[in-house]
Amino acid sequence: MCGIVGYTGKKQAAPILLDGLSKLEYRGYDSAGVAVRNNAGKHEIVKTNGKLAVLSDKLKKGKTLKGTCGIGHTRWATHGMPSEINAHPHCNDDRSIVAVHNGIIENYIELKEKLTGKGYTFYSETDTEIATKIVDYYYKKWKSPVEAMVSFTLRVRGSYAIAVMFEDYPEEIYVARKDSPLIVGTTEDGSFLASDVPAILKYTRNIYYVDNMEIAMIQKGKATFYNVDRKVIQKKPVKIDWDLDAAEKGGYKHFMLKEMHEQPKVVTDTLNSLINNGRIDLSAARLSDDELRSVDRVRIAACGSAYHVGVVAKYITEDLARVPVDVDVASEFRYRNPVFGENDLFVVISQSGETADSLAALRMAKECGVKTLAVVNVLGSSIAKEADKVIYTKAGPEISVATTKAYSAQLIVFYVLAVQLAYARGKIDGDAYSRLIDEMLNLPSLISSVLSDDERLKWFATKISNKKDVFFIGRGIDYAICLEGSLKLKEISYIHSEAYAAGELKHGTISLVEDGTLVIGVITQLKLAEKSVSNLTEVKSRGAYVMCLTSEGNYSLEEQSEFTFYIPKTNAYFAPSLAVIPLQLLSYYVSAAKGLDVDMPRNLAKCVTVE
Ligand code: GLU
Repeated sequence: MCGIVGYTGKKQAAPILLDGLSKLEYRGYDSAGVAVRNNAGKHEIVKTNGKLAVLSDKLKKGKTLKGTCGIGHTRWATHGMPSEINAHPHCNDDRSIVAVHNGIIENYIELKEKLTGKGYTFYSETDTEIATKIVDYYYKKWKSPVEAMVSFTLRVRGSYAIAVMFEDYPEEIYVARKDSPLIVGTTEDGSFLASDVPAILKYTRNIYYVDNMEIAMIQKGKATFYNVDRKVIQKKPVKIDWDLDAAEKGGYKHFMLKEMHEQPKVVTDTLNSLINNGRIDLSAARLSDDELRSVDRVRIAACGSAYHVGVVAKYITEDLARVPVDVDVASEFRYRNPVFGENDLFVVISQSGETADSLAALRMAKECGVKTLAVVNVLGSSIAKEADKVIYTKAGPEISVATTKAYSAQLIVFYVLAVQLAYARGKIDGDAYSRLIDEMLNLPSLISSVLSDDERLKWFATKISNKKDVFFIGRGIDYAICLEGSLKLKEISYIHSEAYAAGELKHGTISLVEDGTLVIGVITQLKLAEKSVSNLTEVKSRGAYVMCLTSEGNYSLEEQSEFTFYIPKTNAYFAPSLAVIPLQLLSYYVSAAKGLDVDMPRNLAKCVTVE
């Protein structure tokens, strides 16, 4: 689930591996390691528990490990605690085979028993050591790395991106992949492999995506791809147009801060990719008006913040286009045997395009013959490749674990879809259509103005940073905003927080409100404002300390709250794009005030490729 980097070429490998791993640090990890083939042709392995900086110090920035072919890894422990011994790379007994792996080997117990029966012993608790020794077993049997990797692929269940070096095959790295991303890039001076684009973007923009059940042999300046029938397959590289600076901090203290400030741009870019000359154009996704008219129901499955985008989409699409929308958490959806309708449009939302549960939900929908659409950020990712249609968010690389700009870009896609669904189905006329498009096009400048209004939020963040519990309450679209605001706060500031539909609070949870409990009321939807204000009065009379997030002009709310933040006026449907900004900023400043690791919060990973 975490980071893999590999290099073979003319240059020293260790500094390249450390640099590549540092570009993947954002994905969250607990230990790190590298293996390099030294000048005597032997594999040297160096690992540490904890941060990459410790590994880099141990290796004097890579200088002490000489050799031009190597693999590196940052581990997010699934099998066995984070420790030096469990860190990757793993190896066979004489270190002639070394490997790094992302993902989970599901049948590891069965494989361990098989290997134990053959005399193998194990030094770590990881499934990856077992995977490495399975490769060793097949290599000894077939005497060929490609055969060993093919047998591995056929024998192992679960998800993996695995990179292996064989002592007998100097300057070569072998990889295999299933349900965990792996990319390869070749240049004249050397070849690279990685689990994600930012690790190798500075060396090449021409990226080969290794597909499921494929194997690759990587040599200096060259990569050869095989299927499980051992046939060589031809692949074309995909050109990545991401801005190199987008993967660097560019003067900001944290990636999250930088990415929040990139939101006006990514919203503009996403709008420009979907709106042409004042009209919505979904031709890049091959979504015609006829198709939109034939949809009886939209079903969305996603995880985390992407799920919250789905909740916003439900409220807007049902109201505007009068199409029923169901939203599910992907990890629940995939296991509950859902009933599909013939004219359902199944939509998966994922920044990385590799989210394991969302991918599984997509496959399930496809097996049931349902039309599928993916909304993803990463070109060539598994979800993008497997869905019938794709709309790309134009967020660029998002490094901070807590999403901000990808969430904002996803919102835009669903506004556009809702408006086009409504128009294609005759629910709104040409004037309303144009007005809605104009309002959307105005969002980037409004987002900029909210971003520049952060001084009071910074001050308020220091006041609430010692709170133990926070409740976000709102109704309708405001409830959907609360879900995201609450998740943002808990993931990076470690404050317990919950989002509640404002009317639901008194059915149990209000018993938790006591003197000083922070309640954040989101009231951007004026038609429900009075009802939400009543709910705020209820908590205030039980001692709550209240913050209100509302639209300009709604000044009477000052009476109810200790701190009020105003967002500019916009169409109520699009308020989430503005209201989420102060909630992101607030979470950021609370986390920073507490001195926490904003970009890499504990226990979390950016790209959740395990179930
Ligand atoms: N399952 C492996 C382990 O626990 C790999 C984890 C990862 O993807 O980082 O070591």
